[in-house]
Amino acid sequence: MQQMEINMLGQMMNTPLTITDIMRHADKVNGDTEVVSITYDNSYHKYCLTDAFRRSRQLANALQASGIGQGQRVATLAWNDYRHLELYYAVSCSGAVLHTVNPRLFPEQIEYIINHAEDTIVFFDPLFAPLLEKIAKNINCVNNFVMLTSADKMPKCDLDNVIDYESYIASHSETFDWPQLQENQASSLCYTSGTTGHPKGVVYSHRSTVLHSLGSALPDAFSLSMDQTVMPIVPMFHVNGWGLAYSAPMTGAKLVLPGPKMADGETLAELINNEKVTMTAGVPVIWLNLLEHLKQSDTDIPTLDRIIVGGSACPEILINEFDELFNVSVHHAWGMTEMSPLGTFNQLKPKLKTLSDEQKMSYKLKQGRVVFGVDIRIEDWQGNEIDWNGFEFGSMKVRGPWVASGYYKQGEHTDDNGYFDTGDVASIDPDGYMLITDRSKDVIKSGGEWISSIELENIIVAHPDVKEAAVIGIPHRKWGERPMVVIVTKGVEIEEQEILDFYKGKVASFCIPDAVEFAEELPHTATGKLSKKDLRSHYKDKILG
Ligand code: ADP
Repeated sequence: MQQMEINMLGQMMNTPLTITDIMRHADKVNGDTEVVSITYDNSYHKYCLTDAFRRSRQLANALQASGIGQGQRVATLAWNDYRHLELYYAVSCSGAVLHTVNPRLFPEQIEYIINHAEDTIVFFDPLFAPLLEKIAKNINCVNNFVMLTSADKMPKCDLDNVIDYESYIASHSETFDWPQLQENQASSLCYTSGTTGHPKGVVYSHRSTVLHSLGSALPDAFSLSMDQTVMPIVPMFHVNGWGLAYSAPMTGAKLVLPGPKMADGETLAELINNEKVTMTAGVPVIWLNLLEHLKQSDTDIPTLDRIIVGGSACPEILINEFDELFNVSVHHAWGMTEMSPLGTFNQLKPKLKTLSDEQKMSYKLKQGRVVFGVDIRIEDWQGNEIDWNGFEFGSMKVRGPWVASGYYKQGEHTDDNGYFDTGDVASIDPDGYMLITDRSKDVIKSGGEWISSIELENIIVAHPDVKEAAVIGIPHRKWGERPMVVIVTKGVEIEEQEILDFYKGKVASFCIPDAVEFAEELPHTATGKLSKKDLRSHYKDKILG
């Protein structure tokens, strides 16, 4: 964009946007808002935001006493509960950087990121003590470990310099003089799971966090307000729990934090009903578990109004069954660690609400419309912008104040126009609904045409004898690359021709795979996503044509 000379300045105060402002506002205005948690030992805890921030002040004093200064990284290895919430505010608002470590990464990756971030102190749930004990000898930067529990409940632990959280903060003052921070200073750090190479660190700033909280809380996005009770099933160790630990206190929405019980349909149903949860957010598999439990136990969830699904594509069954059986609307959202995470949110435009159910579903299954604050574009393989016509797809790029411009210790990562390449391939329709058709490294480039591997996978998993399938590009002498489908069957034998016939009439003939392979199982990453990298390396010597 062209920079113009400024002839006249606005006369508004240039006050910095910091998480401390969210905390101060929430303390004063929403202080009596409840925060409910299930802790690691399954006990139930309830207090209000005023209590949370009082304890955050004690914690900030304790951190200062441990010598944690501005910009120093403080690691957490913890589920969603009230102590983790206190850390969110105490660490960032005192000027240090909250490094939320994903315990689902492989131990070597956790070791790598703690060393890479140079964390000096680690706060961890007792459940993760064995993991830390295993890797502690290879971590040279950490001086102190704090177990998120009280002395009477603290299990035996072999780590050096370990103390329980309650003793760590107990003797400290409940007043703390929060420093005036700059809005662009780092507030938190989260590593992407790294399907290729080492995990990469995304460094959020106070400004990006405040703007993301405002943008994501808007009515056609998370629609947060003091009327809402929000249960984030997205872990607080993954992209700040989709920012809900900031946006809920900011708007006065009650928070319900399920601790390690995220995958347990029964606990989730109980929490929804006991705490009158109105909105919840998480990845598809969580909702499949909850749906299963609700149907089996014949339980209703009358207060729940909305479920937000992201992280991977939302299956149609979730949207259908939650709506028909429980009167809950399921909204698809898309984002990534590098986007704080929110990019698009699916809400039907008023003019689309009169469409047939089938037509509405075709919109609901898309990843949604871009939220204010994110500028989105799709480009063809030569870098030309593609129209929002709904059928052409290309590389999706984003830009905006809550989009990463680079990775920690790696410098800038944007193109010449200042856009970040998401690595997703997508189309956008004239109404602005974005549909992810593939990852750019997975899309198959055949004779100048792009073939979506995801579309081919979605078709074949509908075959009654197919359990799981993956489609990858195999080098081809004439076409450059051609699709090959790798099938895991449900234990029955299927003929190769039957697979190829199944595609006929469902995709253009040039998209039908050239080869079919059968496998016992498919490789997955630490976070459970299909690892096409490993699959490609398995078939690296194969050539077609
Ligand atoms: P990781 O994959 O490292 O766990 P992210 O949460 O950052 O971390 O993953 C972001 C990627 O997940 C996106 O680039 C996209 O490929 C995929 N993704 C996120 N939301 C959706 C969605 N609603 N539908 C399909 N894919 C999605």
